[in-house]
Amino acid sequence: MVGAGFSGAVLGRELADAGHQITVIDTRAHVAGNCHTQRCAQTGVMVHVYGPHIFHTDDAGVWDYVQQFATFEPYKNRVKTTAQGQVFSLPINLHTINQFYGKTMNPAEARAFIETQADTSITDPQTFEEQALRFVGPDLYDAFFKGYTQKQWGCSPRDLPASILKRLPVRFNYDDNYFMHKNQGMPRDGYTDLVARILDHPGITVHLETTFTPEIAAQHDHVFWSGPLDGYFDYRLGRLGYRTLDFERTTAQGDAQGCAVMNYGDEDVPHTRITEHKHFSPWEEHEGTVLYVERARACEPDDIPYYPIRMVEEKALLRDYIALAEASEGVTFVGRLGTYRYLDMDVTIREALNAADAFKEAHAIGTRPDVFAVPPL
Ligand code: UDP
Repeated sequence: MVGAGFSGAVLGRELADAGHQITVIDTRAHVAGNCHTQRCAQTGVMVHVYGPHIFHTDDAGVWDYVQQFATFEPYKNRVKTTAQGQVFSLPINLHTINQFYGKTMNPAEARAFIETQADTSITDPQTFEEQALRFVGPDLYDAFFKGYTQKQWGCSPRDLPASILKRLPVRFNYDDNYFMHKNQGMPRDGYTDLVARILDHPGITVHLETTFTPEIAAQHDHVFWSGPLDGYFDYRLGRLGYRTLDFERTTAQGDAQGCAVMNYGDEDVPHTRITEHKHFSPWEEHEGTVLYVERARACEPDDIPYYPIRMVEEKALLRDYIALAEASEGVTFVGRLGTYRYLDMDVTIREALNAADAFKEAHAIGTRPDVFAVPPL
């Protein structure tokens, strides 16, 4: 397993349970990849070191799976946004709409009103902008999505797929839960503890601060690669585009912003959001507080890749890398970086469980156990 994030850990565990001997390597000094959490030595706050991760899923199997390794505390993500000089509730809900337009509409009135704002000539939205104009109209789009998205992705929402906005609901009631999923929560002792427990198995050996080499590959029957897809091929066709994040970390006393996540919708504010990490663990109490001011920019070779961009150019390159990957024997590509997709944690775990099942099946019948997890474009 190259990479000790959710993909490597879950696959490793499933295959170790089936009797395989597993080596997990990671270049970092910790497991859990970008989900890594660590208590701040100064304040005691559990910090989401690479930015916030909130567990949410409708997949009962995945929810049951993670419960085996961690106690989950209830957590509802309630996001606010500062835009045009006011603080609003996200995702766009009845409170947001009434506040924004200075009205007191009920659900049916708001629905009818937004329909008058929406561009109903767009019947099959393809881009982020079309999706927004179709569902909320230009005013709400300008205030909440246009500037934020431009900052987050470094390009016009006209050039981004509608799928990115489809992550967010629009509600005609006062429900301000950011996610629609039935199961939501936070692992009480953090994600690193959760991943370490998944990896805690006599059949699994973990080597941190270890770079993958052909020699390591030669000592194993099969490689599961959860690093960047293009990285496996030494970027020989060029680099797939990613956005990376810069975090400016500060500590303070008390409650600095009153919520876990405050987005900034205006384009002239350089950061996209500020996260206050103690609010991700509402069952704990701390005097001190840790804040991350978050900015996105193009990912350079030495940066940590976060968000796959997947625009037209990247898709052409991705196709070529997928062809290379399909022609490679003895390796399976998994996870967000390995399959170059904007995956949430629950989907990553589901795909790792499925890949483990496919591998076990292939192994049992003696076929070449290549499992390629990248779905067609
Ligand atoms: N988004 C936005 N305004 C917001 C929050 C999100 O325009 O206040 C857009 C933005 O393009 C973002 C996408 O919606 O990339 C998905 O948002 P989500 O909160 O799911 O992003 P994540 O937490 O994964 O960064």
